[in-house]
Amino acid sequence: MDQESILIVEDDGIIAAYLQDTLTRLGYIVPEPVATGEAAVAAAVAAVAAPPDLVLMDIQLAGAMDGVTAAERIRMAFDIPIVYLTAFTRESQLQQAKMTAPYGYLVKPVSERELLATLEMALYKHNLDRRLRQSEEWLTLALWGADLGMWDCDTRTNTVLYSERWAEILGCSLTEITPNYASWEDRVHPDDLPAMQEAFNAHLEHRAPFYESEHRLQHQDGHWVWVQAKGKVTDRDLQDRPLRACGVLLDISERKRLEEELRQLAATDPLTGAFNRRYFLHSVGKEISRAQRYARPLTLIMFDIDYFKRINDTFGHEQGDEVLRNMTTRIRQRLRHSDVLVRWGGEEFMILAVETSLSQSVALAETLWAALRDAPFADIGAVTASFGVTEYRPDETLDQWLKRVDDLMYQAKSKGRDRVCYSGESAA
Ligand code: GH3
Ligand code: MG
Ligand code: MG
Repeated sequence: MDQESILIVEDDGIIAAYLQDTLTRLGYIVPEPVATGEAAVAAAVAAVAAPPDLVLMDIQLAGAMDGVTAAERIRMAFDIPIVYLTAFTRESQLQQAKMTAPYGYLVKPVSERELLATLEMALYKHNLDRRLRQSEEWLTLALWGADLGMWDCDTRTNTVLYSERWAEILGCSLTEITPNYASWEDRVHPDDLPAMQEAFNAHLEHRAPFYESEHRLQHQDGHWVWVQAKGKVTDRDLQDRPLRACGVLLDISERKRLEEELRQLAATDPLTGAFNRRYFLHSVGKEISRAQRYARPLTLIMFDIDYFKRINDTFGHEQGDEVLRNMTTRIRQRLRHSDVLVRWGGEEFMILAVETSLSQSVALAETLWAALRDAPFADIGAVTASFGVTEYRPDETLDQWLKRVDDLMYQAKSKGRDRVCYSGESAA
């Protein structure tokens, strides 16, 4: 370790010389002692590039400035530990000395052993304080930079200390948050609470190396904020019961919104907003299993716009697009929430009607058929479509089912278009 330098401030020349000799012999760098407060401040300030590592300061000094005032001045400019030297000190002076957060007091006359022990301890403790302060600064900056709120939970009492940012994520100031676990749990969306509790318990019971949960918390203004909470148990008792857990909280609303947008984009057709074929193929298996397991009806309605090419050719592609959008809107208005409307191809659509029997689906197809043909477009006139309808039959494959509905739709085309054909229909 580098030699440490010690500035001696002592107006008694004999004591100053003794201290200088002793400290030099003990291996410290000791500049020429100074005798007044003013000289001490000047010496510390003059050494701005390499200030002393410690100041040994006599409290009673000749001159206008006493040792405590000099120490105050020095500490205003530098973070240098002060050790006071006292012979006789007034109580008021001692109180004032405390305010300068000294690292020790030595009572004159000072033995060599005492001097060494006190200075070593002061330098060591000051070094620790500096490192602690630095790591605190780093932590504060890291939390700020990553936008993280902090929580610190006493798991026996359910007391939780929250940071300013934790409260801010929920639109609150820290004073509005009671420092307990209920402040958190009471704000969790009921749908997310069981998973959040399970994640916490899993970590407490060593089933997970840390606690992590994404859930919604209610903001002060009522809306839901998506957050990610992460943390760890930091203390356990001898019986391995958790004593303390702490961690961070991050607002992930924006990420959740983007994820939802992406999911929407991946599942839907941009022109009409109907689901795309990929989404249908992804979700139809689930519906088939449910229909099979509970013997529930499930049907497909497929329809294709008649002579759509002519519309494009006569009125332009833009108009064609408008017809597709408009028809999708009109169809959707007549569907139930559980029906899945899919843009199957260009002007070809599919509806997966869950919990719907063949006769109900035929009735629905006829409603849609009428809704389309009875609402002519201003320039284009009536636009019609041809429909195929068929129910899912136990144990058939998806391909068999799709082929049947496709055949029925083409049957409607070949019979002259603008109609509904369904399975089991008496051939006419
Ligand atoms: P049919 O009664 O036999 O179904 O005749 P059709 O003209 O409707 O059928 P065809 O398959 O010959 O033509 C479909 C047309 O749909 C051709 C294609 O350019 C057009 N189309 C496909 N997708 C779009 C689209 O997104 N926008 C527009 N405007 N037209 C599209
Ligand atoms: Mg067509
Ligand atoms: Mg077509």
